[in-house]
This record gives sequence, C-alpha cells and structure tokens, in this order.
Amino acid sequence: MAETLKGACLCGSVAYEVKDPESMGYCHCSRCQRWTGSSLAGVVVAKENFHFTDGEDLVETYESEFAPRNFCGNCGSSIYDDLGEKYFVAAGLMRDLDMTPAFHLQVAYKAPWEQIGDNAEQFAENPPA
Ligand SMILES: [Zn+2]
Ligand SMILES: [Zn+2]
Repeated sequence: MAETLKGACLCGSVAYEVKDPESMGYCHCSRCQRWTGSSLAGVVVAKENFHFTDGEDLVETYESEFAPRNFCGNCGSSIYDDLGEKYFVAAGLMRDLDMTPAFHLQVAYKAPWEQIGDNAEQFAENPPA
C-alpha cells in the first residue's frame, strides 16, 4: 500500500499530499537555518509525488541561487525546498508523519547551540553521490 501523508501550513490555507515519502532527515545548512529558524527537518519525495490539495495560489517562491524555497504567502510556513527531481518537504507540517530520521546533511555548518541527539548518519556537507 502506498503511503500518503497530508500536510498543512500554520494558517491552514495551503494543504498538500505527499505520496511514497522516501526518507526523512535534517539539513543544517545556514540557508535552512535562516528559512526555518533552526535546522530543517524534511522528507525527501519525488516531485511528481507532491501535490497541492488546497491554496496553491497562495504559495510563493523565494528564488535563491540554490534550491528555490516555497512557502505560504499568508502565514509564512516553510513548505518545501525544491531540489529539482526531489522535493525536501518540511516535516513539521505533516502531523501523521511517523518516520525515523535517517540523515543529517551540512553538519559542518550547523548552529553551535544545536546538539544532534540521534544516531542518524551525519555528513559534513552532502552524501557522496
Ligand atoms: Zn498558511
Ligand atoms: Zn539546508
């Protein structure tokens, strides 16, 4: 059975579904820290498995040099980081998410006050391709 997760932003205007989430983990880069306030806990999903079910017209995109950042234009919730073929979807918006974090990316750039407390694999930057 394919697993489908539902997510919604803080104000509830934007809702989406994620089918067949592939993995969950954290990105500790300085861009994610500025975008979310801390590290970004996210779920990796193929872009064709991400669909808005409500409020897509409210979604805004911050075009950055790296992955474009998509967020709710009303409440500002971080929704997903567009990595091209994959999306990194903010985990906190999906209340039924029950996955175990599998990785920590960009650990070389993490905030000095953040302590990693699980056994998920750590990468100084990105995993070797
Ligand atoms: Zn919102
Ligand atoms: Zn990041």
